[in-house]
Amino acid sequence: MFNELIDFLFSKTNITITLVNKPRIKPTSKEQIKGILKENHESTISGHSGFSRTYKRIKENYKWSNMKRDIKNFIKACISCQINKRNNKPGKAPMEITTTSERPFQRIALDIVGPLPLTELGNKFILTMQDDLTKYSYACCIPNHEAKTIADEFLKFITLFGIPETILSDNGTDFTSNVIKELNKLFKIKHIFASPYHPQTNGSLERSHHTLKEYLKHYINESQTNWDEYIPLAMFCYNSHYHKTTNYMPFELLLVENWNYLPH
Ligand SMILES: [Zn+2]
Repeated sequence: MFNELIDFLFSKTNITITLVNKPRIKPTSKEQIKGILKENHESTISGHSGFSRTYKRIKENYKWSNMKRDIKNFIKACISCQINKRNNKPGKAPMEITTTSERPFQRIALDIVGPLPLTELGNKFILTMQDDLTKYSYACCIPNHEAKTIADEFLKFITLFGIPETILSDNGTDFTSNVIKELNKLFKIKHIFASPYHPQTNGSLERSHHTLKEYLKHYINESQTNWDEYIPLAMFCYNSHYHKTTNYMPFELLLVENWNYLPH
């Protein structure tokens, strides 16, 4: 998956752009297939994804007859999925959200998850941010949801990804404080608040919280005091799987989009 993306990016540095189709590997034994299935479904960077996401991921690098059937059976037999997903109703197709963003990080949605069980590192909440265009998602573990804590983390996000034109959040006190107002004024950011009448503005980010919680269930300890150790991997997993709304991996869109802005 990443090899192909890297090939693509490197190919842009040549005068002619050539997309190389790498031959897919054909496993030669049942043991090998089992290893591929384990690696692409159970590992912390695979996150026990469902059939469609697991299949798309595997077929990029491998091919064998009855691949679909093997993946379906493997997921059906996965104990962790049986335990953690048994109450899930069959998922509805996600609501299509019309987007007006033209570039990555033009519009960012922010939200807070928690309170969660206090971790050994002292965290209790997650501040999540999602780019409207690419669905690239970012999360940081925070001990509280005071305005200053949120402002500090948001500032870190800006130093990494640039200043967004617009941010979206609910109108809870976490986001309406003077600290956030000052930050928005300083960076000339327009702040839109999702209201009960326009809850859809944050819909995609809220759905990503569900994915995040599902991911954590598979890996955290019984007392649930180590969920914060898995957040970076969970986000890596989210950003490197196909997103239902865009049909691309957030990482893929982000890197390719950004590449277009660089001088050639
Ligand atoms: Zn599983």
